[in-house]
Formats: sequence, C-alpha cells, structure tokens
Amino acid sequence: MSKKAYTFRLYPTKQQEQTLHKTLALCRELYNASLEERTEAYRMSKVRITYNQQATQLPEMKEIRPEYNDIHSQILQDTLRRVEKAMRAFFRRVKNGETPGYPRFKSFNRFDSFTYPQGGFSLTHDTRVYLSKIGSLKVRLHRPIEGKMKTCTIKKEGDQWYIIFSCEVETIEPLPENNELVGLDMGVTHFAALSHGETIENPRHFRRSQKRLAKISQNLSRCKKGSHRRARVKKQLAKTHRKIKNQRKDFLHKQSRKLVNTYGTIVFEKLHPSHMTHRPKPKKDETTGEYLPNGAAAKAGLNTSILDAGWSQFQQYCTYKAEDAGRAVLFVSPNYTSQICSGCGQIRKKELSERWHSCDCGAELDRDHNAAINILRLGSSQRGATYVEAPCL
Ligand SMILES: [Zn+2]
Repeated sequence: MSKKAYTFRLYPTKQQEQTLHKTLALCRELYNASLEERTEAYRMSKVRITYNQQATQLPEMKEIRPEYNDIHSQILQDTLRRVEKAMRAFFRRVKNGETPGYPRFKSFNRFDSFTYPQGGFSLTHDTRVYLSKIGSLKVRLHRPIEGKMKTCTIKKEGDQWYIIFSCEVETIEPLPENNELVGLDMGVTHFAALSHGETIENPRHFRRSQKRLAKISQNLSRCKKGSHRRARVKKQLAKTHRKIKNQRKDFLHKQSRKLVNTYGTIVFEKLHPSHMTHRPKPKKDETTGEYLPNGAAAKAGLNTSILDAGWSQFQQYCTYKAEDAGRAVLFVSPNYTSQICSGCGQIRKKELSERWHSCDCGAELDRDHNAAINILRLGSSQRGATYVEAPCL
C-alpha cells in the first residue's frame, strides 16, 4: 500500500469562506500557544511537554474559549500533532549533531491549512463535499479518486481554496515499456471499436436498468404530489440512478484498466458532446415541401447511448491510469475520421445510419472499425512514430 494525494479546487460561499478563515485563524492561534507552552516549560524547568498532555487540555480550553467548539475536535488534535512533529524533528537533528533552527511561530501567511485526520468529511455528491462544522461545499472533482480516503486537508493558496484527500492505494509499479498503439472509435452500436478490429460492447445491464428507470419514472408521474407514495417512489428512483452510476463506473474502470495494461499508447478522438447532443435540423423536400426523415431518431438513440456510456469519463479513466503506469493517451481531431477511407484515404460520405464502409479501392469493413484505423493513423503521425500498415483488408 502507498499514499496518494488528490488535490481539488473548492468553491466556498462567502459565508463558508468566513468559517474557513476563522478555523484557520483559531488553529494558528492554537499552534502558536502550544509551541509557546512547550518552549516556556523547557526554558524554565527543562520539562518536555508531550502531545497527550496538551490534548487533554483541549476540553478545558473550549470552556474558556467557546469559539473552539465550532471546530471539529480532530482538527485541533491534528494542529497539536503538527507542533509535536516539528519539535521531534528539531530534537532529532540536535541529537545528530546538527544545528537546526528552533520551530517557529506561524505568521498569518505561513499557516495556511488544517486537516481532518480521520473523519468528519465525506463526498456527498459528485460536486459536493461535506465538512463537519463547516457545511456542504462545492468541489470540482476533475479526476476520479482511487483507493481509501484517509485524511482530508483544507488549504488556502492566495485567495483560492483547495481540498487534498490523502488516500491509501495499492502500490502501482510502472508497466514495462510497450510500443503497441491502438486507436479507438467510441460508437453507437458498440461502446468502442478498436483499430485491430475488436470491439468493446456496451454491457447489457445498462439497457435493463434503463428500462427499470423508465418504469419507475412512469410510476412517479402517476403519484399524487406531496403523497407518501410519491416520496417512496422518488427514493426508489434515486436508488436506481445510483445503481446505474456505480455499474457504469465499474465497467469503465475494468475496460480502461485492460486497455492501459495491453497498449503503450491509446489514441482517442476528441469528444464534442455539445455537438452530439444537438437536435438535427428538420429537413424539407424542395419540391413537395414535405418534411423528410432527418435522422432525429438515430440521433436520439445516440444521445441516450452517450449518457449511458460515459465516453468522456472513460477517456479520463484511461488518461489517469496511463499516467500512473507510464503510458500515453493521445487525442486527435474527430473531423472526417468516419468519412475517410482507411484503405485509400479518399472521402466516402456516409449517413449516420450507414454502418458499413465500402470503397472503390476494395476496402470493406465496419464503419467504426474504419474510423478506429483512421484515429490510430492520426495518433501515430502526431506522435511522430512510424505507422506500420495494417495487413490488407
Ligand atoms: Zn478506399
């Protein structure tokens, strides 16, 4: 097991920021008081005060200074431990015959963090963290957290706030060097098509859960507003959503792990989710004025599949796992990757519903497979690597 720290930006409200400032100020005061007590005791009577002695004074201190009740007690204990650590380091260096500087009092600028060493914090939502005695704060989790969260530190840098989770993770050895490249086309019919012709299929349970979701939603619409039954069904709905989310995460973790373990470099298309979720414009027949099919049904199917599949989440997982393993992920422009023929390089325009790529040059292959080969080729030219032609199709 090893420790890994995850830092995220915090977005406190004005009022929460005041609480954070107040917590910092009180912890700083405690730190300095603790250091002073130790220093005086040693200077006056050569007595060394321990962490335990100071920690047992905390309840008494709270009676005299009730504002300390507004701080999670483990944060105060951690502050005292920081002094203990500084003192220990000092004495250790003295013993080794060095001449270290005596631990210093912390000025406003030098005391910029406090820590929940065990509990009192939890992620309640993808965008919120609950901090005991402070409240529910907005956080931007820009990468998934792996391992078990052990401690949580709140840190001020300039006028920005950060939260640092220290996690226990299984020690990851960098994987051996691997020159194999793979291109991936994230698709509708498959979750992804690989440039070698394999596919990663969408797990069936997504669809099953989605059906269940639709059924519960329908039940909900039949319940009277404010009724007990409605509250119960609402809870059921939230539970199903949670279950789907976890199933998806599990699937994405497994698939990304497999890819990173197998290939040295993974090439993706940059995603444009905003483009993909737009409704296609209605198409009108020039002569009759009648509306023609515009592929809206196919697009709608595409949308639900995007929501299900969590492509961008998948790309994130691959990126972080590759980073840890010393491997690479590349992103290439998605323009024309599905239209260009991977055999001869000419553009073969296709409707969204056309699932097969067929070209005069003799190339015959699945549309997504064709795109994956193009993505791989773009990636290898971007990397400057020599691309070895795939065997004739
Ligand atoms: Zn061709």
